[in-house]
Amino acid sequence: RTGFVAIVGRPNVGKSTLLNRLIGQKISIVSRKAQTTRHRVTGILTSDTAQFVFVDTPGFQTRHRNALNRSMNRTVSQVLGDVDLVFLVIEAGRFGDDDRKVVSVLPADAKVVLVINKVDRLGDKSQLLPFIAKMAEVHPFTEIVPLSAERGTNVEALVKTATPLL
Ligand code: GDP
Ligand code: MG
Repeated sequence: RTGFVAIVGRPNVGKSTLLNRLIGQKISIVSRKAQTTRHRVTGILTSDTAQFVFVDTPGFQTRHRNALNRSMNRTVSQVLGDVDLVFLVIEAGRFGDDDRKVVSVLPADAKVVLVINKVDRLGDKSQLLPFIAKMAEVHPFTEIVPLSAERGTNVEALVKTATPLL
């Protein structure tokens, strides 16, 4: 199984940390197929059963609603509709306007795994279940995975959860 995956989320949620953590496990050689795609490959994870090819999305603006930003957001939406899977990253316990704007560009038919990052920062772990329940109301996420990209907690579970979705 090989699939293209986009990691999206507002700045500072931990996308780069997560990508580094994911591809830090095992890196394979970029295949010919990956190189011919129009997506820019940022990393590859090869597990026992699947190969995840992570690709860049053009950065998008959430602050200003002008024509250029709207057009950029459409491009993001097209890219997201074109990958096999999207990892939408948010911070545990926080879901603000900037996160909501990222959700608003997700194509309705895209498979999206919600990654709730920085769970290590939750003082009270009992906050997590109500937060997951609240997020399930926001969008029909295919799966929801809480983890800590920095500590590596539950990152393996993300890979396991995502594999059959490729
Ligand atoms: P990006 O802008 O989404 O790519 O976010 P970065 O990966 O650059 O991370 C932003 C900040 O969050 C950095 O200071 C990271 O060290 C921190 N960070 C990322 N993941 C975690 C995590 O799981 N737990 C904690 N406590 N901090 C994290
Ligand atoms: Mg980054």
